[in-house]
Amino acid sequence: MSENGNKIELPANIVIRDLAQIVDQSPIDIIKKLMSNGVMATINQAVDFDTAAIVVAEYGYDAVPEVYEEEVKEETGEIPLWRQLIADEDQSNLVERAPVVTILGHVDHGKTSLLDAIRETNVAAGEAGGITQHISAYQVEMKGRTISFLDTPGHAAFTAMRARGAQGADIVILVVAADDGVMPQTKEAIAHAKAARVPIVVAMNKIDKANANPDRVKQQLAEQELVPDDWGGSIMVIPVSAKEKEGIDDLLEAVLLVTDNTDIRANPDGRTIGTVIEAEVDKTKGTVVTLLVQNGTLQIGDIVVAGTAYGRLRAMFDFRGKPVKKAGPSTPVGVLGLNDVPSAGDLFQVVGSDKEARDIVTGRQDAQKQRVQSKKKASLEDLFAAFKAGEAKELGLIIKADVQGSLEPIISEVEKLGKGEIGVKVLYAETGNIGENDVMLASASKAIVIGFSVQADVAARRLAEKEGISIRLYDIIYRLTEDIEKALKGMLEPVVTEKVIGRAEVMAVFPISKVGKIAGCKVREGELRRNAKVRLIRGDDLVYEGEMSSLKHEKEDVREVRTGFECGVGLKNFHNIEVGDEIVCYVLEKSA
Ligand code: GDP
Repeated sequence: MSENGNKIELPANIVIRDLAQIVDQSPIDIIKKLMSNGVMATINQAVDFDTAAIVVAEYGYDAVPEVYEEEVKEETGEIPLWRQLIADEDQSNLVERAPVVTILGHVDHGKTSLLDAIRETNVAAGEAGGITQHISAYQVEMKGRTISFLDTPGHAAFTAMRARGAQGADIVILVVAADDGVMPQTKEAIAHAKAARVPIVVAMNKIDKANANPDRVKQQLAEQELVPDDWGGSIMVIPVSAKEKEGIDDLLEAVLLVTDNTDIRANPDGRTIGTVIEAEVDKTKGTVVTLLVQNGTLQIGDIVVAGTAYGRLRAMFDFRGKPVKKAGPSTPVGVLGLNDVPSAGDLFQVVGSDKEARDIVTGRQDAQKQRVQSKKKASLEDLFAAFKAGEAKELGLIIKADVQGSLEPIISEVEKLGKGEIGVKVLYAETGNIGENDVMLASASKAIVIGFSVQADVAARRLAEKEGISIRLYDIIYRLTEDIEKALKGMLEPVVTEKVIGRAEVMAVFPISKVGKIAGCKVREGELRRNAKVRLIRGDDLVYEGEMSSLKHEKEDVREVRTGFECGVGLKNFHNIEVGDEIVCYVLEKSA
């Protein structure tokens, strides 16, 4: 943001605190000005450009839209907050930093073994540290250069970070077992890396195995648009054996090559920010948090805010457990001193005072409450609203279908639809029911999940409900394409969505003559309502979906039963009820 005479550049959205700083006024004054214009906002809330322009005009400034931010957005789509902050740095202060690498791939393809092999072969033996605390990242040296590895393999960690817009890694190493090839989680990993626009290096692992088939793996990778460089593409595919510790140096060199072609820089003297990689509570030491510094230099004694946790750093140690006083960009460190446990993927920043830290945390807690309320509304319709407002240019889809044969026509049909103003991007397509991972990917990518002749499993439904993700199920292709088409035109009728209003546990089952079975339940959450719909869940299985035939409390027919109370529930035409089953009560709502 720069000032030029009384012209002032403002981004599309700006937090009151930052706005106050730009015009050199107290945030309270800004809030008062907003109030007099009918806008209620707290210090940590953002207002849009138009609102901010009105306020700054009152101080004699003429607001113009910040051009820079728009350009970056168009180029890269999804930009994590820290990248944006680095982009805001004076570019002449940026220096090269070590690449941060994360390892993804299908289960059992050797992620953990590879992380271990890299650590064992390339971590220079250091002196024994004072604090023997494991942190979930490490650094290796290769040709005099440093590479930082995030030691938390698996999509969950990566997705959790992306969902918070954090994105710790600069480069993804995709592990594919040479004897097994591209599998569903390999495809998921590719989808994640692509959506996050993080370059991929493929480690073709288990090359020592007799049934390794490198050509087949390359063929499969090419089918996923990862064309190996020896086939004329741009993806480096490095044969390795984590078991025999072969090819590790080649892999690291490939990472350095990709680094040289990627803008991996930061300002060690700039504002100190980074990402929480992992956090845990240690019985003796308190909260131990692994932080990845992404800009600036973290120092012992700094006051740090991470998510809704804060505190003064009383100790800091590197991945060897050796106490350190400072940590620059791309350095992972363990720190002690935060008052609470932040979440993996939370952004951290250094602030000037305890009070500032407390203010930020209070603001975030308020914002969190608001988000929970507004998330419930997030749906396909909201995505269109975002398109209309010009915030999104693509409709991201995750498609699950019963068989490969129906997947292909669906993809080609929906991609055809996306030729207009708004694109359609299939982030991931696979056969099988909709699972939690699909919803996680959707949540991280702000996409929707489409199922064709498949079901969504219970965990997926729960997560979707929590994250406000739309899951749409179809059995007829043209209805699906019709919906997407309407969606792209912003004409979609409000959909009927499901809202869970209560959950009860079956404590006993009573056979009643003529009636069948009655479930003796205790309401654990919310309420059961006689005229609402119910689902009976056993473990992870959905065993019944329908309506209640009766709802009684102490032998009386009742309309509803609330948390903590017991009741008897009969299910319409269904008697296979068991102790331990869960009854989920829900209503259908039109989401406007
Ligand atoms: P992850 O689930 O991706 O973390 O996979 P693991 O690292 O746990 O490895 C899964 C299995 O594959 C283990 O039994 C490993 O010993 C084995 N494995 C890993 N890398 C290699 C390799 O390079 N060669 C062979 N033969 N086996 C390997």
